[in-house]
Amino acid sequence: MDLIYASTRNADEKVTASQAILKGIAGEGGLFVPTEIPKLDVSMDDLAKMSYQETAYEVMKLFLTDFTEEELKHCINSAYDEKFDTAEIAPLVHADGAYYLELFHGSTIAFKDMALSILPHLLITSARKNQIKNEIVILTATSGDTGKAALAGFADVKGTKIIVFYPKNGVSPIQEKQMVTQKGENTFVVGINGNFDQAQTGVKKMFSDKELAKVMDAAGYQFSSANSINIGRLVPQIVYYVYAYAKMYANGEIAKDEKINVVVPTGNFGNILAAFYAKNMGVPIAKLICASNDNKVLYDFFSTGTYDKNREFILTTSPSMDILISSNLERLIYRIAGNDAAKNAEFMKELTTEGKYEITPEMKAQLSDFYGNYSSEAETAEVIKKIYEDTGYVIDTHTAVAAGVYGKYKAETGDTETKTVIASTASPFKFTRSVMDAIDHKYDSMTDFELVDELSKIANVKVPQAIEDIRSAAILHDTVCEVDEMEATVKKFLNI
Ligand SMILES: *Cc1c(COP(=O)(O)O)cnc(C)c1O
Repeated sequence: MDLIYASTRNADEKVTASQAILKGIAGEGGLFVPTEIPKLDVSMDDLAKMSYQETAYEVMKLFLTDFTEEELKHCINSAYDEKFDTAEIAPLVHADGAYYLELFHGSTIAFKDMALSILPHLLITSARKNQIKNEIVILTATSGDTGKAALAGFADVKGTKIIVFYPKNGVSPIQEKQMVTQKGENTFVVGINGNFDQAQTGVKKMFSDKELAKVMDAAGYQFSSANSINIGRLVPQIVYYVYAYAKMYANGEIAKDEKINVVVPTGNFGNILAAFYAKNMGVPIAKLICASNDNKVLYDFFSTGTYDKNREFILTTSPSMDILISSNLERLIYRIAGNDAAKNAEFMKELTTEGKYEITPEMKAQLSDFYGNYSSEAETAEVIKKIYEDTGYVIDTHTAVAAGVYGKYKAETGDTETKTVIASTASPFKFTRSVMDAIDHKYDSMTDFELVDELSKIANVKVPQAIEDIRSAAILHDTVCEVDEMEATVKKFLNI
């Protein structure tokens, strides 16, 4: 029997996995969630012997039950190949008393590659399975990393177009350069004069606009989403938590069934939700430690039970986490509300109208798997410097937010024994200026690419190909628009 996906906002909307991937988002702005979380059906001893690709198959087959074995293996093998600069795909590095799960070895050197290298294949397969004739238009809002990873994944994929909106002044220079130099006839990149939340809200509005959908359909187009609300992104992210645990077990770092903690630098709550799903599949995970930067709306939520986005939006050195509306949290809210779409829809309505909602004490009691905290800008920089000076290992700003929060967790709870995996979400080469500035202010006067070479020297790590590629690349995209011009911009690109 197929695993069915239900909307978090409408109990009557139920679809298969391939339909959920195609739609991206459910009606009324809801998100698709699996009606149950399947349990792993292979033993840890077997998983311990598997490659990343084999592990991916064992995890994803349980969620994408309407894909054939051949289809799914084809998607997996097309995604996790030489685009990654290591055969391990997601290596674990033991440093400073924690295990850094390096999720940045794909083509755009951030963890979004883990899912976005496979999503185009899942989507094309889903379109074929559902006899879709329209061209698929991927519409994406990005706080920096999703955009490039999605562009790279979809560039020149037949039957698709991709349009990416990013906050013009809210991404790092290297992130922007990566996006505006993207090749591919089917790629479109737009800077908006607004922040990430405005970009995301604008994109969500287009997705739920029925009039626009009709106009699109008449022209032979339909929207889909590459944002982390698409379950085609969430499911591939579960894989590396299973893989990391299996590798630690295989290497004798942990005993059978020994519990580990997982720390995730969090923005849209997709990556940590994947870890939560891994736990529910049977991976022995103790605490899910949710790390925020100064935009600490999630920390406040875990401490008080009130989610309140009415606050100043702060631009930090970890821009991919500068988010006040954590979209994927809705999936957790729905679950702790007893999988009650009506109740969840009420909360989400309050979020839209009041900018906040408060969960019930019964719901809050179900959040004991999670621990939330945050790192300030100064603490984040301090952690980068300290880990570099103590161990020689250089981490990026997002990963440093997580490392800082792990330090606070240990100090606060006294839990220093549990082996802990820190999701390392970006290469330090992607945020070179902030990283080098944290290590020593003397680097302030260098240009971005001088800093890249200097980082390579001090960290003793080769400059990633993704950075080499943009050193001299031509700028191919220069569209900038206002927040209220997003729809008009899409229509112009599509000639509709
Ligand atoms: C997207 C991103 C995050 C946040 O992940 P979510 O799934 O949105 O919580 C953290 N770090 C980096 C480098 C990212 O690109």
